[in-house]
Amino acid sequence: MKLEPILAAAVAGESLDDATLAYLLGLETPGELEALFRAAYTVKLRYVGNQVHLRGLVEISNICRKNCYYCGIRRGNTNVARFAMNREEILEAARLTARFRYGSIVLQAGERNDPGWVDFIEEIVREIKAIDGGKLGITLSLGEQTLETYRRWFAAGAHRYLLRIESSDPEFYATLHPADHRHDERVAALGFLREAGYQVGTGVMIGLPGQTVEHLVRDLRFFQKLDVDMIGMGPYIVHHDTPLGRRFPETGSDAKRQLEAGLKMIAVTRLLLRNVNIASTTALQALAPDGRERGLLAGANVIMPNVGDLAYRKGYLLYENKPGVDENADSARIALERAVGSIGESIAYEVWGDSPHFAARAGNR
Ligand code: SAM
Ligand code: SF4
Repeated sequence: MKLEPILAAAVAGESLDDATLAYLLGLETPGELEALFRAAYTVKLRYVGNQVHLRGLVEISNICRKNCYYCGIRRGNTNVARFAMNREEILEAARLTARFRYGSIVLQAGERNDPGWVDFIEEIVREIKAIDGGKLGITLSLGEQTLETYRRWFAAGAHRYLLRIESSDPEFYATLHPADHRHDERVAALGFLREAGYQVGTGVMIGLPGQTVEHLVRDLRFFQKLDVDMIGMGPYIVHHDTPLGRRFPETGSDAKRQLEAGLKMIAVTRLLLRNVNIASTTALQALAPDGRERGLLAGANVIMPNVGDLAYRKGYLLYENKPGVDENADSARIALERAVGSIGESIAYEVWGDSPHFAARAGNR
């Protein structure tokens, strides 16, 4: 295949078949990668512009009922001190997000579905909504729940939800999770989210042991079929206190390769899905100090700076060498503004920053 005409066709919006997607994800040389990222950036500018949308991220608890084989805060990891932020601490983080003019907040945690937790989230969402007359957009990332729970949280004021499918291939998913973590249930949960009215985000980890380009092509088709509004993807990074980390201690140890794999997936997703929001995730920054800026240059347009209490950051280590555990939210904000400016982009303050895809989908209903 010849790269230039393929990229020109992709930028022009021609459809991309599976073989072309696989070819693009398999690019290796610096010149080819540069051309791919440039093409994705052109499409990004056309559909979502060069303003970065921010979501203040608060990791509200590392208590989790699940045991995903890759995750550092899985239930089975007894080396983790468990925490749950209280109401006042979460509200303080929300007020800080509003003061920073970030426009939106994301509440993320391990998965829990006990009634006390469901009530607590409903209440906290309602209270965040009351700050500054409901200016803050609220995104949740709290795992699989029932349709009823999703509806209650939506009615309380949350309007976006991130639930990564992790892998769209049920057989591959089964190698990453215990048998009672069912792929069909995760797919169903994504359907419930849409039914409850949320803007839905999903994504996968990239560079997992055993993952192939074919898996990633299937993931891209899954995003397309689900007609998602947002994508949050990032490189897999090993945590040695996990079954996957113990079994494959070397996977992902080539940081440059792992970063490139993540950037390629962002770029190809932008070429394919065009007007969705795509996050440049912390895992990219874990692999290179300028990883998030490179994510923006490869087609991403959302960043989720951590605004949670520093005291809890070390308890939320999904993977090793997670950045930002010692950096307070204020200095992170200043550094981020500088980093975004350094690549010629700017930050869109005080807006929810919904994806144009959502507006188009809502308009079509
Ligand atoms: N518990 C909720 C869930 O799983 O949907 C939300 C929080 S969970 C920590 C958020 C995401 O972290 C997961 O969807 C997973 O993709 C990612 N994650 C977990 N372990 C990781 C690792 N070792 N490397 C990179 N990302 C990881
Ligand atoms: Fe729990 Fe989410 Fe980690 Fe799985 S990825 S163990 S559900 S926090």
